[in-house]
Amino acid sequence: MAESNNNFIHNIIDADLESGKYGNKVYTRFPPEPNGYLHIGHAKSICLNFSTAKKYGGKCNLRYDDTNPVKEDMEYINAIEADVRWLGWEWDERLWASDYFQTMYDGAVELIKKGKAFVCDLTADEMKEYRGTLTEPGKESPYRNRSVEENLKLFEEMKAGKYADGEKVLRAKIDMSSPNINMRDPVIYRIVHATHHNTGDEWCIYPMYDYAHPIEDAIEGITHSICTLEFEDHRPLYDWVLKEIGWWETPPQQIEFARLNLTNTVMSKRYLKALVDEGAVEGWDDPRMPTIAGIRRRGYTPEAVRDFCDKIGVAKANSLVEVSLLESCVRDDLKEKVQSRNVIEKPIKVIITNYPEDQTEMMEIENSAVVPEMGTRMVPFSRELWVDGDDFMEVPEKKYFRLFPGNEVRFKGAYFITCNEVVKNEDGTIKELLCTYDPETRSGSGFEGRKVKGTIHWVDAKTAVPITIRNYNHLMIPDEEGKNVLNPDSVEITTGYAEPSIVEANPGDRFQFFRHGYYIADAKLFSKDNLVFNRIVDLKSSYKPK
Ligand code: ATP
Ligand code: MG
Repeated sequence: MAESNNNFIHNIIDADLESGKYGNKVYTRFPPEPNGYLHIGHAKSICLNFSTAKKYGGKCNLRYDDTNPVKEDMEYINAIEADVRWLGWEWDERLWASDYFQTMYDGAVELIKKGKAFVCDLTADEMKEYRGTLTEPGKESPYRNRSVEENLKLFEEMKAGKYADGEKVLRAKIDMSSPNINMRDPVIYRIVHATHHNTGDEWCIYPMYDYAHPIEDAIEGITHSICTLEFEDHRPLYDWVLKEIGWWETPPQQIEFARLNLTNTVMSKRYLKALVDEGAVEGWDDPRMPTIAGIRRRGYTPEAVRDFCDKIGVAKANSLVEVSLLESCVRDDLKEKVQSRNVIEKPIKVIITNYPEDQTEMMEIENSAVVPEMGTRMVPFSRELWVDGDDFMEVPEKKYFRLFPGNEVRFKGAYFITCNEVVKNEDGTIKELLCTYDPETRSGSGFEGRKVKGTIHWVDAKTAVPITIRNYNHLMIPDEEGKNVLNPDSVEITTGYAEPSIVEANPGDRFQFFRHGYYIADAKLFSKDNLVFNRIVDLKSSYKPK
């Protein structure tokens, strides 16, 4: 398994180990909100948290940040666990933020008693007005100086369900003139009359993220709470909550890193959910989606995703990563792992006029051009064959070495074949190519009489198996103004002809379709009667490392 290089987070941890701040403890966590499927951005966070714990012999929890009762769903929870495991990680503990609701409530009571929190009756709009701006300080709420007793009573009543949603909130009492807007008496509890998947109707007040998260970390004994850069300005509040409640001797520390942004896709759960709900894609696991479920079904491997997360590194400044880097990691991983098969995508019929009508030979073809240990397989060859549309040109361009009238090429693993004549249909399209073969040139015979420049692949027409090929392209492309929009051609579905051994494939099996790309038998749809293959990635690499 790929290990992360020492990054700035590891430098912080090294220093903490040196000073003994947390003894020799390194505890991290991955804290998804179960309101959607995980995507490749989450993979970065997962790999960072789990690999950091692994590197230091520490622990990493999977913690559901389920403090918002309305958007959460069991479907998401099951998907999240499958995805983390697929990436190759196992959590030490699986925990629920909602199990800490009582402690969070007690913490809020503690803050009230210390005069550090108050119940506020301002409406959301009023609160916005009072908040001020980046350049102007905010105004104090008229409810800010309620007595401790009154606050305790009102907060208790909020909990007991006496008030409607939005009628009251609990706010931290910090500083309305702070240059950091997050510190201007932020809301820490709100009223939501909704049933929670874990706690049912026990609570009708729910903690806000900025209040809940530090407490979750502290309860679990997390040492280094890694999150994305947007939370940098929230760190003073994170520290404030733990300091003012004061129950933890060495509170966890929040460390921010740059989130992953990738070209040609989107990474907001909200947007991805909209695509699913509108039917723009087949579902969360559509092979075009940047979700882990989509990537898995697309045929990407966990090794490739981990390698990608390693290569992009951990930075303190946001950037946009080319999706072609991810694709090149996939190619690199598959190159030596998968066998090759002959598949024709835009078929042209070839008739070998001097080959006996009823004869079929079994040709021995290597399973991999790069790993000889993968052995060989026997592939039938006879008088009528399919070749690929891209491997023939009636009027060849300069430097075109494949099939064209009058040219001789090698049919890979078979014979040298010369194209003699193009037979057309009435509408001018190509019906077939009349060719001849040279029996002397059989592959493996040691023939050295002459050389040919082009080698092409082929499939025996009599035994060819039609398969459905789904060629995927990017989900998003830039429009004229450079704005990311849905690619109308994100999938092209065609029928191809495969050599007969393809029927032995099982769902999830990967192959290189010789000269075309890497393909996977679709894990959901593939069966003996429905031979559906997804293009994982094409063969050419457009990615050039800087
Ligand atoms: P989204 O913005 O896609 O809805 P989120 O941040 O709301 O995602 P959470 O479930 O809250 O999703 O995220 C769980 C963890 O994954 C958080 O620690 C978050 O910082 C991290 N994370 C989310 N998106 C990315 C990303 N693009 N790159 C790196 N880490 C991410
Ligand atoms: Mg979130």
